[in-house]
Amino acid sequence: MSSQIPLHPPHCIVGVIGGGQLGRMIALAARRMGVRTVIWTGGLEAPAVEVADEVIDKPFDDPKALQEFCSKATVATVEFENIPRETLEAVAAQTPLHPSPHAISICQNREREKNFLKQHGIPHTWFAVISSAADLATALKELNGPGVLKTADFGYDGKGQLKLKGDEDAEATWAAFDAPRAVLEAWVPFEKEISIMVARGADGEIVTYDPAENRHRHHILDVSVVPANITPAVALEAAAIARRIAEALDYRGIFGVEFFLKPDGELLVNEMAPRPHNSGHHTLDACATSQFEQQLRAVIGLPLGSPRLLTPVVMLNLLGDFWQSETTPPDWTPLFSDGEAFLHLYGKRRAIGRRKMGHANLLGVDALERAELIAAQWLEASSQ
Ligand code: AMP
Repeated sequence: MSSQIPLHPPHCIVGVIGGGQLGRMIALAARRMGVRTVIWTGGLEAPAVEVADEVIDKPFDDPKALQEFCSKATVATVEFENIPRETLEAVAAQTPLHPSPHAISICQNREREKNFLKQHGIPHTWFAVISSAADLATALKELNGPGVLKTADFGYDGKGQLKLKGDEDAEATWAAFDAPRAVLEAWVPFEKEISIMVARGADGEIVTYDPAENRHRHHILDVSVVPANITPAVALEAAAIARRIAEALDYRGIFGVEFFLKPDGELLVNEMAPRPHNSGHHTLDACATSQFEQQLRAVIGLPLGSPRLLTPVVMLNLLGDFWQSETTPPDWTPLFSDGEAFLHLYGKRRAIGRRKMGHANLLGVDALERAELIAAQWLEASSQ
């Protein structure tokens, strides 16, 4: 590894597969550092398009797009994990891709993810792989209690999930679930949900951020509070587990690990995200190095930056239901009047349903109360 890599083209052009808000924030961090980006995305309305230096607007299975991307990018990364494995392998054969296709493929499928956790002795909830009604019947019998059935592929924000009491008819439940493969998990009566961002650099150096405590609304992340209200022992354990995962995946880049914290203090890994994560957005305003800059550092091969938390912070997700209409945002006055609240919008034109439109970071020890007050005002205004 060398800190002498020239950051300017043609030496360094970071290719990002995916054009969502995470790609946008990677591109913004890159612009600040004078690093160029080429974004490969389907759809010119994608949030990253207006801030990237170059855009390839073609499907991920288009061979011409692959050639164009690899000829332009000197190093590549992903901003979402649901990219076909073949595309990832084809990119990696020509251009260094971090994280590796292997690490991404483990995190993009719940069956592989759960098996990875089991193989490496990393604490997780009981699960069974389901591919038929008979499998479900056997698993429900073994589980003997409440659970949740999740599609193996392409699940996020609670989509493709069905909570089960445990006494359901397996035949009818499986027919209605309509997925080729799934994972049945035991329901975890957790006390809270926390997550941690971890980065591993080119030389194997690992840094972990302070864990975030996450609250969801309608299965979508609502607020992340940092520091989390957990004991130092739990925070250390979360960091230790994240490190073990980073090593076991031979990971390079940033990733997020979501946990359930049980009332007895035990942590169970729920999910891993091989990219910057929504619960790491506070790092933009509250940490020495944001998760997006950290990703660039790891991917380019620069030394990692400090993850140090500079101030308590609350990240409030700005979902579409705060909007007064599809095209009318909430009144930003209370947010800007706060003085220590910082707005990040993703440039999405329409607020459809509970789409993630942006987030706000509020700094200070009383940030949660302030965030809740502002959110309540917006929800009231949008329901009128
Ligand atoms: P996921 O998409 O797997 O992160 O699930 C979305 C949310 O559903 C989680 O953040 C939890 O609040 C809840 N959830 C998922 N799996 C379980 C489980 N096994 N036990 C309890 N709650 C769960």
